[in-house]
Amino acid sequence: MLKRQRITLTGRVQGVGCRPFIYNLARRLKLTGLVYNDTTGVVVEVQGANQKLTEFLDRLQSDNRSPSLMEVVSLGATTIPLVNNEQAFVIETSDVAGEPVSEITPDMATCKECLDEMADVYDFRHRYPFINCTNCGPRYSIVKNIPYDRPNTTMNVFNMCPRCRSQYQDAADRRFHAQPVACRQCGPKTWLCDSQGTRIETDSDATIELSAQLLAAGKILAVKGIGGFHLAVDALNDKAVIRLRQRKHRDHKPFAMMAASVEKIAEYAMVDDAARKLLTSPQSPVVLLPQKPDSGIAPSVAEGVNTFGFMVCYAPLHHLLFECEGIEVLVMTSGNISDEPLICDNEEAIQRLGDVADVFLMHDRQIYRRIDDSVMHIIDNEPAFLRRARGYVPAPIYLARICSKDIFAAGADLKNTFCFVRQNQMILSEHIGDLQDGLVHRHYVNSVKHLQKLFQVEPNIVACDLHPGYLSTQYAQSLNADKLIKIQHHWAHIASVLAENKFCDKVIGLSADGTGYGTDGAIWGCECLVASLDDFERFGHLAYYTLPGADKAGKEAIRPVMGLLSALDSDYMNRYQWLLDRIEPDSGKLHVIAEQVKTGINTVQTSSLGRLFDAVAAILGLGTYNNFEAQLPMALEAIAASNITDGYDMNLMTASNETLQLDFRTIIQEIIEDVQRGRQPEVISAMFHNGLANGLLSLAVEAANRYNLRTVALSGGVFCNRYLTNRLIELLKKAGFRVLLNRRVPANDGGIALGQAAIAASLVARDS
Ligand SMILES: [Zn+2]
Ligand SMILES: [Zn+2]
Ligand SMILES: [Zn+2]
Repeated sequence: MLKRQRITLTGRVQGVGCRPFIYNLARRLKLTGLVYNDTTGVVVEVQGANQKLTEFLDRLQSDNRSPSLMEVVSLGATTIPLVNNEQAFVIETSDVAGEPVSEITPDMATCKECLDEMADVYDFRHRYPFINCTNCGPRYSIVKNIPYDRPNTTMNVFNMCPRCRSQYQDAADRRFHAQPVACRQCGPKTWLCDSQGTRIETDSDATIELSAQLLAAGKILAVKGIGGFHLAVDALNDKAVIRLRQRKHRDHKPFAMMAASVEKIAEYAMVDDAARKLLTSPQSPVVLLPQKPDSGIAPSVAEGVNTFGFMVCYAPLHHLLFECEGIEVLVMTSGNISDEPLICDNEEAIQRLGDVADVFLMHDRQIYRRIDDSVMHIIDNEPAFLRRARGYVPAPIYLARICSKDIFAAGADLKNTFCFVRQNQMILSEHIGDLQDGLVHRHYVNSVKHLQKLFQVEPNIVACDLHPGYLSTQYAQSLNADKLIKIQHHWAHIASVLAENKFCDKVIGLSADGTGYGTDGAIWGCECLVASLDDFERFGHLAYYTLPGADKAGKEAIRPVMGLLSALDSDYMNRYQWLLDRIEPDSGKLHVIAEQVKTGINTVQTSSLGRLFDAVAAILGLGTYNNFEAQLPMALEAIAASNITDGYDMNLMTASNETLQLDFRTIIQEIIEDVQRGRQPEVISAMFHNGLANGLLSLAVEAANRYNLRTVALSGGVFCNRYLTNRLIELLKKAGFRVLLNRRVPANDGGIALGQAAIAASLVARDS
């Protein structure tokens, strides 16, 4: 029996290859009808046998040929009258909305079809390093302006050849309106140059071959990619990796690596199903994976951690490079000096990286928006972000309801991202970096302006952190908005979880964090809040301790050590002299800090959990200095024995103002006694983590009893610690709690802007 249905699709369905996909699907199923764009999305009218129509509807959402960028938010189907004598299925391009206005989508890894074509000797894009289609290739990184159309991208300098143009204009082709479409004849080209910028080789294949030879010989290669330059060296060659560290001024922080396939990666690291799926996704992030013992990876790639960061090739150029002989695994670290912004411009690369790289693999497709690789890891068997950038930005995160006003949220100062609210979308920027760096700060200001134009938002409501010293707060203040909303840091952390889970009620919010400015002027960190997007109450926290030498306190572990010890015993300088001398041999410095602790000059009161980790790592002899953020906490996590269930004691006590406090004195005392007894650091570390998880659980249980709540939201930088987070989730679930955590934005300060934006949007809704 014949039937005709009208199907409407909304979401990310325009300009992502949706119509060619539907056209081909209908043809395969021998259905007739038409497909077109309208102002709300895509409309399909489809006619044929009932059973075929059912299959069509199923495949619309599940077919493995569906465009990777397509994201159907709603699908409606109604039966309509039959059309007589319909012969074929057609794409109607003359729709009411005019030509499709493509949404700006994230940059995606090269798809299977393009890889097959690149390998096909008979295809005119055989071995072409910039092959792409509607399903893959650069997007966000090449957009200069709106609408997202070829003249508004950095592809505007390349004139399409007739063959490329015919594909670009053919509504049934998978390159229909793929803005970066190009080929060897008409598109971008590669060349190799030395550190002065002099061209050594310009033939495409020879360029790649020579690059591979130089890498195999231990040279440092700067490779221009999708979002910026990478610095590449052979990850199996320790000397080469050490040379890269010295030249890049990056002494300790682990390097990310790239390989051609998951199978190759699995030779060096443990890849479970969740990680495999993530590594091979079109977003192609760096994924942190447990190291295999004696992996053969150069020791200097990742010291003091138990993971390797790996990604699979995601640009055609990478694939061609890894096909060359002698290329197994490469370090592929951001092309920048220490923590400055990623370099994306050819001339700037020669200028700034000339002393770092031996050779440069260049191309002439301009990168307009620099964007780092995203970094993820697996928590409780599912992906979680450490850095959200390429592949994910600028895909919006949706609000539960439409916001009547545009909002700008300035974010935090470390790991900064910022966020715009437009209707029901929260558009979070890519990872910008640490704003204290002058170049990063300038990049921040420029990025805010650029994205504001790109997404056509005019925010007169601005949200920022409560910290008066934050550069992001100062920037927010300088905007002279109608309304400036200052939001407590840890409330914003918890709000980020509520926002991405569209959770509108009150929760118990456990924030395990480094530092954030508190409403009482103290530096908060480990907090138990009872919070919603409308307000919050501080239910409990880690007991305050004195933190001397504010700006140095995040680097030098001796400072939190002395602050914590002073709470144990006023005679701590004598009682723990053996320990203090070991951590800080300079007795003069010890006495200066002791004086600060005693008088309170240049100190803050804090409940920071990050600094507690620093202190415990130092007490265990794992190091005394954070060369990069969280180096000591990561070292402490890395050694934790996996088979220990015992934990040190962390008790609750009630403070005079009725808030509950988590007492750290016993745990510190027990750890020091165990160190003196010669207990293994691996066991002590595990018992510290377990004790802390128990302590956080007990806070949640108290809050649950008082407020009759059963949902716990976890956020804050310390929840990037897999051991602690997995353990706590297990305990909370066993105790009957529903656990919410960050899956779409980082739990660290990279998620703060989203939380600020969601709180501001909630406030707007309440006021209107
Ligand atoms: Zn493709
Ligand atoms: Zn062409
Ligand atoms: Zn934070």
